[in-house]
Amino acid sequence: MRAGLYLHFPFCRAKCPYCHFASVPYAPPLHDEWRRGLEEEAALRAAPSLAPDTLYIGGGTPSLLGPDEVRDLLGLFGARFGLEAVEVTLEAGPEAADADRLEGWREAGVTRLSAGVQAFDDGALATLGRRYTSAEAVSFCLACRDAGFEAVGLDLMVGVPGETRGSVERTLERALRLEPDHVSLYILENVEGLPFAKVMNDRPVDEDEVVENHGRMADGLEAAGLARYEISNFSRPGKECRHNLKYWRYEPFLGLGPSACSRLGPRRWCNKSAIGAWAEALRRGQDPVEESRELDAGTAGREALIFGLRLVEGVDLRALEKRFGWDIGGRYAAEIDELVGAGLLLRDGLRLRVPAERMLVSNQVFARFA
Ligand code: SF4
Repeated sequence: MRAGLYLHFPFCRAKCPYCHFASVPYAPPLHDEWRRGLEEEAALRAAPSLAPDTLYIGGGTPSLLGPDEVRDLLGLFGARFGLEAVEVTLEAGPEAADADRLEGWREAGVTRLSAGVQAFDDGALATLGRRYTSAEAVSFCLACRDAGFEAVGLDLMVGVPGETRGSVERTLERALRLEPDHVSLYILENVEGLPFAKVMNDRPVDEDEVVENHGRMADGLEAAGLARYEISNFSRPGKECRHNLKYWRYEPFLGLGPSACSRLGPRRWCNKSAIGAWAEALRRGQDPVEESRELDAGTAGREALIFGLRLVEGVDLRALEKRFGWDIGGRYAAEIDELVGAGLLLRDGLRLRVPAERMLVSNQVFARFA
């Protein structure tokens, strides 16, 4: 079971009003501070025998990183962690990606580009405060395809205030014309405290319509050969995100950078979110951890069950029991029977999975195992 490596790049051109990720507007001195901190964190956590086989550079908007820096980072991770990546993903935003850089990233070792376009509809993009048009997003995605990456993925969103069946179908049709290898399809969350909450509260979306639009989009993706493999993720055969599969299969991962989380052996921890606090701890030679927890076999087995049920393939109870050393099926026999009876879970021998049509309400399933 090989580990995955995650790198958090915490900068964007500007902060989107609906964003709850750990990111701040880009500034060169902050970028320098992040880079210094990263060198220090890599030295602090150095483990050349870890040998991760995937690297995911997320954010933030990591497409603000030039190809030379991406190459340097791969070298750093090779030296500190024995990185032997078969998959290197870079998240890229159309507003912060210079098409000339695409080839440079590929040559530096990026194999997979995840384009955070959100929509191919000018109304939805304007509502979200994105700084590009649908036509610019299409041009960017075409350039990504032409650059010859092993896989190009799109991030799309439904549930945007003002969305209509027509606008969703427009986004779907334009997305499919680009023939992506992978699509992540999310529902916009209303997070109180963010500037966008006012927009969501002033122009509330009809939840039933959002579910219908999500279903419409999911059906269109599947009909075009992008099979759903996780609640929010669709891919062509063999183009699933190997790095993200590690999270859902409860495999080990190390995260570097502010707010990044890790789970290695029996311990899970998350770094401080603020760049300044994370970098300051490292400068003082301290571990920049904000929270840390030892996971006993009971907790780990339960979490692995819940994460695994996010996948269309579901979980093999016998394999989980062998791995964590306790009778998971016996402990949850009543809950499983009840969920199967309610049509929220399918049981095939010792394999459990959530039916495709109930995936959007799978929180009801997870809650029974919490
Ligand atoms: S580009 Fe993405 S990470 Fe950056 S502020 Fe917007 S939503 Fe957040």
